[in-house]
Amino acid sequence: MNLAHWLQRTAALYPDQAAIAHGADIWCNYAELAHSAQRVARWLRARGLAPGDRVALWMTNRPEYLALLWGTWWAGLVAVPTNAKLHPREVAWIAGHSGSRIVLCGASDAAALQIVLRQGGDDAAAPSPAEVVSDLSFVRGAAPAPLAIAPRAETDAAWLFYTSGTTGRPKGVTLAARQLRWMTMAYLATVQPVAPGDACLHPAPLSHGGGLYHLPYVLQGGVNVVPQSGGFDAEECLALAAHWRNASFFAAPTIVRRLTETARRSGRRPVGLATIVYGGAPMYLADIEDALAVIGPHFAQIYGQGECPMTITVLPRHVINDPAQPRYRERVASVGFAQPMVEVSVRDTRGRELPAGESGEVCVRGGVVMEGYWNDLAATQAAIRDGWLHTGDVGYLDADGFLTLLDRSKDLIISGGSNIYPREVEEALLAHPAVAEASVIGRPDREWGEVVVAYVVAREPVTAEQLDAHCLTCIARFKRPKHYCFVDELPKNNYGKVLKTELRSLDARGAA
Ligand code: AMP
Repeated sequence: MNLAHWLQRTAALYPDQAAIAHGADIWCNYAELAHSAQRVARWLRARGLAPGDRVALWMTNRPEYLALLWGTWWAGLVAVPTNAKLHPREVAWIAGHSGSRIVLCGASDAAALQIVLRQGGDDAAAPSPAEVVSDLSFVRGAAPAPLAIAPRAETDAAWLFYTSGTTGRPKGVTLAARQLRWMTMAYLATVQPVAPGDACLHPAPLSHGGGLYHLPYVLQGGVNVVPQSGGFDAEECLALAAHWRNASFFAAPTIVRRLTETARRSGRRPVGLATIVYGGAPMYLADIEDALAVIGPHFAQIYGQGECPMTITVLPRHVINDPAQPRYRERVASVGFAQPMVEVSVRDTRGRELPAGESGEVCVRGGVVMEGYWNDLAATQAAIRDGWLHTGDVGYLDADGFLTLLDRSKDLIISGGSNIYPREVEEALLAHPAVAEASVIGRPDREWGEVVVAYVVAREPVTAEQLDAHCLTCIARFKRPKHYCFVDELPKNNYGKVLKTELRSLDARGAA
């Protein structure tokens, strides 16, 4: 079934409900969104695109984004939402690799992209024939003559999700209606139900995981709110929650930290919030405890990855808000339990399932796991083995099924033959009041193999000796950082994740 049937259904049920808002203003209702989708679908069809063809979207969050996405689906096409912060050369590569026929983009970026595309991109193996379109005026206008939704199968590609490509070229995770539907059902079943009029704010890029969260709101007649700033601004976000009420949004842990700081400065609890769903990177215990105290009982956590979109495990609000539970702190430090449509298992390097308490690679199997990587059979076979998606994350399950993540396997530090999970050291450092942010990496070392190096953003003056003394009070001696580097900020991608690969190369340059 084509996902566009959801929009058609909602437009029939709740034609006058606000569908997309731009800041505090309603941009369109559901009847208008269905019309826009049909206008977009007609426009794409008129350019000769046929079901299954790809259309790239390269723009910051704006209200047209969702109309373009639904129009693409209405026509039976495959959307390729592309990170707005990428360089035109990277976009050209993605357009070429996905075989996108059109790149829909913002006016300011079109010229640079056209130049790169005319030169054939930066990879002769993937020349892009894409047409660049930045005049998006066809999205809005009079109601079009009705257009039938193009038939699509459950496993036909709908969304190609290019990974950030920290190791080599990005890979195009192929998501079909099946994964998007399961992911939506998981949200409604385990994060929260959605009623007509409930709001989903979009401070995070629509091209990434946060964008997937708009789906349950379209299905249920909620309003998707694109901030006027087009991105994350803590004050704007809290003001939009107060305006729209019952407002939820996805936030990476760094964003949660900034919201907490803003709410603390304002001296009062934010109003209008339903749920802030955090995930995408480790949430440190100190940070979630702080956020709960300052913002209130509005948090749920998800753990997923592009390959299993937003839907491996969930830590629901009722668990996070139950401090009377005897194992409360362990649970809040975990990423929760398996979502209903997946099995989660922890395996050793030979693929054998490990018992509770033993750490190994987190593997997942079920309807929400990707179809595969677009045009990359070798990478698909490396990621999905014996029917299990190998996530590259290391963790352990407890006897009740709660999963605790230790780290990405490639971030593990082996020093003097002992395994050290950076996250544990980061948790310890963050418990010191002077530490605002910390990221821990391994630095190659002749004697030890690797030594632990901590990059620290301090909120008040503090010395390496003081942090060392603090670490001695909470972690094993051999896990303590051997070196501290105090920095003003940590390198992050535009989803707020610390880029450890970049930190390691910075460190290598510094050490050299
Ligand atoms: P991406 O595919 O870019 O969304 O990145 C997915 C990766 O982010 C996962 O494989 C994890 O390493 C990490 N991640 C996602 N959610 C969480 C979470 N709740 N806690 C810790 N790490 C997470």
